[in-house]
This record gives sequence, structure tokens and C-alpha cells, in this order.
Amino acid sequence: EPVKPANFLRAIIERDLEAGTYAQRPFGGQPGDAALHAAGQPDPARVRLRFPPEPNGYLHVGHAKSICLNFGLARDYGGVCHLRFDDTNPEKEEQEYVDAIEEMVKWLGWDWDAFGTAHLYYASNYFDFMYRAAEYLISQGLAYVDEQSADQMRANRGDFTTPGTNSPFRDLPVEHHLGRFREMRAGQHPDGAMVLRAKIDMASPNINLRDPALYRIRRATHHNTGDQWCIYPMYAYAHPIEDALERITHSICTLEFEDQRPWYDWLLERLAEGGLLSHPLPKQYEFGRLNLSYVITSKRKLKQLVDEKHVEGWDDPRMPTLAGMRRRGYTPASIRKMADDSGASKSNIWLDYSVLDIALRADLEEQAPRAMAVIDPVALKLTNYAEVFGSDSFHEPCHAPAHPHKPELGQRQFSLGPQLWIERDDFAEVPAKGFFRLFPGNKVRLKYGVIIECTGCEKDADGKVTAVTATVVPDTKSGTPGADSVKVKGTITWIGAHEAVACEMRLFDRLFTEAQPDAGGRDFLTVLNPNSKHVLRSYLEPGLAGAKPDDKFQFERHGYFVADRKDHRADAPVFNRIAGLKDSWAR
Ligand code: ATP
Ligand code: MG
Ligand code: MG
Repeated sequence: EPVKPANFLRAIIERDLEAGTYAQRPFGGQPGDAALHAAGQPDPARVRLRFPPEPNGYLHVGHAKSICLNFGLARDYGGVCHLRFDDTNPEKEEQEYVDAIEEMVKWLGWDWDAFGTAHLYYASNYFDFMYRAAEYLISQGLAYVDEQSADQMRANRGDFTTPGTNSPFRDLPVEHHLGRFREMRAGQHPDGAMVLRAKIDMASPNINLRDPALYRIRRATHHNTGDQWCIYPMYAYAHPIEDALERITHSICTLEFEDQRPWYDWLLERLAEGGLLSHPLPKQYEFGRLNLSYVITSKRKLKQLVDEKHVEGWDDPRMPTLAGMRRRGYTPASIRKMADDSGASKSNIWLDYSVLDIALRADLEEQAPRAMAVIDPVALKLTNYAEVFGSDSFHEPCHAPAHPHKPELGQRQFSLGPQLWIERDDFAEVPAKGFFRLFPGNKVRLKYGVIIECTGCEKDADGKVTAVTATVVPDTKSGTPGADSVKVKGTITWIGAHEAVACEMRLFDRLFTEAQPDAGGRDFLTVLNPNSKHVLRSYLEPGLAGAKPDDKFQFERHGYFVADRKDHRADAPVFNRIAGLKDSWAR
């Protein structure tokens, strides 16, 4: 295990472990919710962290950052990371998203089982506790039902320069508010008629403390609780309670929640004073979001791309969702490396997309078997083949290592014939300066094969090259004594037409033409790249006939490719280009 670089979160956790801040807390539910764990023993987990996605879309590369950070800290400090569905917003949440989130966290290589328990939680399982806690706050004069209209509430909140104004409902007696809140729950008021608010300070310089909303009326069927509730807690109210009930120690979130921290502490302290929670309480810490250039990391906007069919689903290989990245061929190790290398700091960071490709190459260079592929093919006719090899129906065998550093993987077998496929751009009728591949009169080596001399080409009526012609230079086969008798400057890849595996080849480019597609409130749809997907008919080495969905290869000279996990079939192969051998993004 490489030593992890220090960061401020590690420093905080190490300080807490040293001070024993969380050492003696019980392994058990909070006083208000004993059902969560078997109570009694001290908690065997030294720290408890959580990854709390809202199941309103698929996870994206930004979430990978948060997953690797939280699960990684839990692993490194003898703790556990909970997977918690923050499902307090019924209209937008679906079981499909819950399932996809679990699948992708596991795919990244993490799991939430520890100390004999699967630490998989749903915020909606705490609705009863949250309701009781709200009644408690009302009973203490710390919350009230506000019947102002949404517009009045907004106007009375004030802004950064103007203090807010108290609601006329704020100082009605506790009994009134308790009654109203129970009516809200009982379904006696229409959606939006009133909200429950905390009673803190309408003049606070921190707008989050100007009587934040705790509950709203919303008749919507919930994926977990069905129609049991017609009131739902607000995120800001629910989240600290979720953390406390699960005895989270360090609640790590992104920077935009910094101003919520005083509220987080206020709420938990009040509930602890009332005996609904016990100390030590969780603490919130904020770190900077991860952004990738040419990528959007907002579930709402990614959903829009899917719903409006700008892409072919959440797992489209161009999408920065983990499902899309998996299908594109990115490996869990490459995503984890990118997340780890980006550290944790107090400011939002922008990474160039190429960082991901660098991590991918580092992972696949050692793992991926090699193969030849002709991506954009043109025919090559060897006009003296029968003279040199005896017959056009004889196929001269050739071989190459499956992996240059792994002899144990053995050899790939393929063969020469009178007609081959080569890359269209490996031929030039009139060569540019420095072009060493095929042009009339020039000699090149067919990699792992023989040296050939180009004699010309055939064209169709439009002048498009339909075949390149060449002759074999006898006695030049790789691995034979004559191999070096003729010197050439160029080597090209090829596939025998008699044994080529035809495939659909999908080449992807960035989805947006601007590095920060949604910067400054720009409509990101206006900078969609219209040429982000190219489909070609390509040819592969015969050994690739056995490729399985999700198998990854390095195609010599071309880069890293994967058999598409959804569409690839033995009788209809489909490959995706993951990334080139070198960085073509930084061009
Ligand atoms: P989105 O706006 O895409 O919906 P979110 O933050 O609202 O993102 P959640 O499902 O609430 O989505 O996110 C779960 C966790 O992932 C949160 O703790 C959030 O802070 C974290 N997270 C989301 N996006 C990023 C990002 N770009 N970088 C780091 N962490 C992120
Ligand atoms: Mg969120
Ligand atoms: Mg969001």
C-alpha cells in the first residue's frame, strides 16, 4: 500500500483518534432510535463515515471522488463507511437509481459491510424519528408552523445586506403550532399551504439560520414509505439527524454546505439537550468539489441529456456517469487513482480530462493483451504473393507476444495472405515530408510479417483509393535470418483479409466543445459537440473472435479498446475506443 498524502481531513481524523473523541461511544442506536444497531458494547468502528447520495439519478465522476474519499478514510482508519440513500424528496427518487448506485459503488471496489453488519441505510427509515424530533422542537418553542405564502416568506427572508422580518405566525403559542403540525401530518392542509420552520434568528448574518424550513406538505408516493406520509423533511433538517442516528463521526460534504455547519450543530445540540440524541455528536467538514474539463457533474443536467436524447441513456460511453465510464472501458483502478491523486482540499478543483486517461493507461499498459486492429481499412493487394509463398491459398503463419512484458501469456497466431487490410492513412499517393509508410516505390515492414514494396493503388470513379498494391520482398520475414537484410523506416499494422474479424468500432470524442460547458450559467446544450461519436467498420486480428463483453485490449499503434458490455456479441462484435496511446486531448 503506497503511503497516502496528508490532507486536512486525515489530520482531523488523526487528531480525534488521538484525543479519543469518539472512543467511548456506544455501538448502538441513539436514545431516540434504538433499532439501528444492537446496543450495549462500545462501537468497534474507530470512525464512521458515510456516502449519502440522493437516488435521483446515476452517480457521476464527482461522486467517485466523494466515494473514494469516504470509503478510503474508513478503510485507512479502521472504520466503516455507510452507504446511505438520502431519500427525502419523493418526486425525484426511484428504485432504478437506488439499484444503479449500489452497483456502481461496488464496481468501484468498495463495500459497506463491516463489523458483521451491512451498513446500508435509507434516510426514509428515520421519518418517524424526524417527526418526533420536530414535535419536540415545537414543544420547546424552537419551531413553528408558518402559513405565509412562499412569496411572503422569500420577501421576509431579507438578503446579505438586509435582515429578515419575523413571520406574523412566529410567536403564536406552542399549542397552536403543535396542533397545526399534527394537522399537516394528518393531511388536513393542501400541499404548500404551510411549512414547519426552526425558530432561530431572522436577523442572522448567516441566511441559513433565518428560520430554515424543516417540513413541507407534499402528497407524493415515496419509493420506500409509499403513501404513509404527506409531509416530508427538508434536506437540511434530515441530513444532520441521519448522521447522528447512524453515529457518524465525521460528516464530510462539499464546500457549498459550509454555511450550513452552524445550523447542523444547532440542530443536533438542541436534540441532544432534549435527550433525543447523545454525545459525541457528528461534526461536519467540507472539501472542494471535483470538476473535470469538458464534463458536466450535475445529476439534473445529466438527466436532461438523457431525457432529451442527446445521448443514448445514462450509460452512454460519452457520459461522465460511472455507468457510462464503465461502458466506455475506464477501469475502477483508474478512477480510484484519479480520485486519490486529486487529494482533498478546501477549494473546488478542476482537473483536465486527460488525467483520467493517464490513469487508465497506467492501469491497462500492464494488464491489457495486445492485438492488431485496422480501424479505417483499405485493401492491400500483394501481387507477387503466389510466387513468393507458392499459392494464394497458402497462409504464411506469423506470431506476436500477447503482452510484451508477460511471456507467460504466450503468443498470438495470425497469418499473411494475398490480400490484407491496412489503415487507409498508412498509404499516400504523394507522400508529405517525413512520411515513411506506403507510397509508390517505398518499402515498409508489415509488423511481425514481411517487408513489402508499394507499387501503386487502384481508385474508383471519384478518385477514392480502393486498394493499395505492393510486392513482397522475399526472405525478409520477421524472426528469420534475412529479416534485417533490407532496411526500412516504417512498420505498419495489418490484418489478413482471409481471417479478419469484422467489427463495429465506436470512436468517441468529448461531449462538449467547451472546457467548462455550464460556466457562468451558459446553457450547456449550446456547446454540445455534434461530432462526439463516430462509427466505423473495422477489422480485428482473428484471435479477437473470442473476445467477451468488457474485455480490454491495447490495439497496437491505436490505444486502448473495450468490447462493449451491452452490445458486443460473438457474431456481431462491437468495440469502443477508451483512450489513445498518447494524449490527444491536449493537442
Ligand atoms: P448533483 O448536483 O450532481 O446531484 P449532489 O451533490 O446533489 O450532486 P448527492 O447525491 O447529494 O448529489 O451527492 C452525494 C455525495 O456526493 C454528496 O456528499 C456530495 O457532496 C458528493 N459529491 C457530489 N458531486 C461531487 C463532486 N463533483 N465532487 C466531490 N463530491 C461530490
Ligand atoms: Mg444533493
Ligand atoms: Mg444536486
